Amino acid sequence: MEKVKSEGRKVDSVKLVEEYLKNETYKDALLIQSEILRFSREFLLSKGFIEFLPVIISTITDPLNHDVFDAQIDYYGYKYYVTKSMILQKQVGVLVHDKIFSVSPNLRLEREEKYQSGRHLIDFVQLDLEVKNAKREDIMDLMEDLIIYVIKNILDKYSDIILKYHPTLKIPSKPFEKITVKEAKLLYGNDYEVALSKHSEGPVWLIDMLILEREFYDKQNAKDPETLLDFDLIYPEGFGEGISGGERENEYEQIVKRIELKGNGLESYEDYLNIAKEGFLEPSAGCGIGIERFTRYILGLDHVEKSRLFAKAPGKFSI
Ligand code: AMP
Ligand code: MG
Repeated sequence: MEKVKSEGRKVDSVKLVEEYLKNETYKDALLIQSEILRFSREFLLSKGFIEFLPVIISTITDPLNHDVFDAQIDYYGYKYYVTKSMILQKQVGVLVHDKIFSVSPNLRLEREEKYQSGRHLIDFVQLDLEVKNAKREDIMDLMEDLIIYVIKNILDKYSDIILKYHPTLKIPSKPFEKITVKEAKLLYGNDYEVALSKHSEGPVWLIDMLILEREFYDKQNAKDPETLLDFDLIYPEGFGEGISGGERENEYEQIVKRIELKGNGLESYEDYLNIAKEGFLEPSAGCGIGIERFTRYILGLDHVEKSRLFAKAPGKFSI
């Protein structure tokens, strides 16, 4: 493996293991994270969801809306992408079972500046779900219930741990507040997401993203074509975005139009477009909730790298 030349980038592996053993935060975070996963699964399975196994490499993956370094594998002359998200696989998954989820590892080789956000890793896990024929409101409602269920159970069982790390954590009440991107921009200017997270009392939905600011697969709003039928959940107290989701484009012509509008290049989506062209894709909606960020929020941790073992933070090189 090539050595990283920049000073201070390589994490000392021995010191890291010593830190895992002496800093109780890791021990507590792992326990809470394991319980977040258990309660999330319990909740979704009780609602009739089926868990399907994550896909780590594929000929198609999420283009993302921001620039990351490419991660590709050559295999017998064919190219695999390392999964950035399973969005396109979820659209096929819902054809097999109507309600699906996966605990999906994603690799996004983020630029080092992202370290400062406190919520970016390059290797993270999202609980990614999709529901056939659902509207975005159904998914937002479902996720409100999931978050309430998880936080309530964690507070019931581990109040001592939560008191130690995040004594102000409350069970949010339904419905969570909603604000459109246009309203948020008027209220807070271009840095609206940070301001929203800082000023809101509880988790808040940011909805109606602008068409060029999101990926091609989020559905265009026919009544307001400049915006999409999608959403983010913004955690309060400055913890920032925790969920992204929305309704999906499923019609071939519209998907082509949207890929072209984003300038993504149709050739990278050949396999996906072939499936869409055959008319297989059905309307669906879904979202992904980042597990490390959910852990960070529940425990009030300063950086998401403390929310798991073997975290890979942007710009750092570690075991
Ligand atoms: P996205 O659809 O790209 O917003 O990803 C879904 C969710 O995964 C986000 O709302 C976050 O909770 C989580 N997530 C996305 N990117 C990262 C990252 N670089 N590090 C940690 N979590 C992330
Ligand atoms: Mg997002």
